[in-house]
Amino acid sequence: MPATDSPVDVLVIGAGVAGLACARDLLGSGLTVRVLEASDGVGGRMRSDRVDGFVVDRGFQVFNTSYPQVRRRLTLRDLWLRPFTPGVLVHTGRGRLRFTDPTRRPRTLPDLLPGRLAGPRDLVALGLLSGRDLLAPVDRIKRAADRTTRTELASAGFSDTFVERFFRPFLSGVFLEDELETSGRFFHLVWRSMLRGTLCLPAAGIGAVPQALAAALPSGTVHTGAAVERLTDDGILLAGGGTAAARAVVVATGPGPAAALLPGLEVPATRVVTTYYHVAPSSPLGEPTLLVDEQRRVLNTCVLSDVVPGYAPRGSALVATSVLGGDGEGREGAVRTALADLYATDTGGWELLTVRTVTDALPAMPPPQPLLRTSRVAPGRYVCGDHRATGSVQGALASGSRAAREVLQDLRR
Ligand SMILES: Cc1cc2nc3c(=O)[nH]c(=O)nc-3n(C[C@H](O)[C@H](O)[C@H](O)COP(=O)(O)OP(=O)(O)OC[C@H]3O[C@@H](n4cnc5c(N)ncnc54)[C@H](O)[C@@H]3O)c2cc1C
Repeated sequence: MPATDSPVDVLVIGAGVAGLACARDLLGSGLTVRVLEASDGVGGRMRSDRVDGFVVDRGFQVFNTSYPQVRRRLTLRDLWLRPFTPGVLVHTGRGRLRFTDPTRRPRTLPDLLPGRLAGPRDLVALGLLSGRDLLAPVDRIKRAADRTTRTELASAGFSDTFVERFFRPFLSGVFLEDELETSGRFFHLVWRSMLRGTLCLPAAGIGAVPQALAAALPSGTVHTGAAVERLTDDGILLAGGGTAAARAVVVATGPGPAAALLPGLEVPATRVVTTYYHVAPSSPLGEPTLLVDEQRRVLNTCVLSDVVPGYAPRGSALVATSVLGGDGEGREGAVRTALADLYATDTGGWELLTVRTVTDALPAMPPPQPLLRTSRVAPGRYVCGDHRATGSVQGALASGSRAAREVLQDLRR
């Protein structure tokens, strides 16, 4: 089916995970659907490239197996997931300290004890917070008053030292901001999902996730190289010319393009992140663990080939290191210097494989965060994507799902 041809019930603009989930649900209800994607492939912010035999994700990210939408939509074993160790290493002025999820590996609890990462007060606070987030009904988190994560952590009883040493460096890589100003509600949902699931990467790269979602659609549903320029009274106009008509249009593009296609739509600011991919002759760490930096010179770093050996050709190691903001003059050199300290090794000979900057990596999520907004914008016009929910795969999928439900309700009236 060409991108512009016979009318369909619904046009979905954008083949990121939100658009793919929305299309799947609409098709499952018997509607005719066409997905129009501007780029040359599906996945949006979740794509992977092959660069000189290495697997390079478009910005370092991890996959969480506990997201409800993920469990509903994907057969996890088909992704050949490889896990990170349940915890992180924190590089501090006193050396490397290990934070291991005590609910998974109780024997590592002493690693957190006084004189190490946390004091007794922090251990108690950690136990209470984790127990509540792990076991309480999720609605309790969603309905709680929303404050910044910093306020939330202080009122949970954590010392400033522990917040600065562990939570701030660790969460800066999750929120893509390092002031802990993100919604506390979102923090609790993230903490809950980390305690309940496993952080991992698909063997073929993060892009395997949207590929699997797209594979569940009938062939011919997704049209790549089909950039939508604007919405018309009865459908859309493509940038290259050509129109398509539909009873409903769902804009699933990410916040910037959504605001351009739907004038008047309020969209959040976005976070910028840059990931440097270095090649080392062998792994400088030797374990599949995320390393964060108390000094916050980098957001985080990890040896990807320790997680998924196939990310690097035999005889080399692939190291991914992310920083906030863009790739300015001298930035890579500063990162390389920090990496020498973080991994306690000479990084002078490491090759810079490639750099990925994502300007709209995540929506800013200050409190109060609604968590999931309606997709309805105007009669026949809908919007979905992580910026309508939370900046995560779960948020994007849930938003796509909600858009499909609302389109169905309206078309069946
Ligand atoms: C570096 C990085 C790290 C991340 N880390 C994590 C993580 O660890 N865990 C987690 O859960 N989430 C993470 N995320 C967030 C997650 O990737 C996103 O929330 C999710 O992929 C957003 O999906 P989406 O469908 O809403 O939008 P997008 O993926 O942005 O998809 C939008 C699509 O619309 C297309 N499009 C845009 N304009 C047009 C147009 N005019 N016409 C047609 N098509 C158009 C785009 O090409 C794109 O394919 C990370 C993101 C990044 C970038």
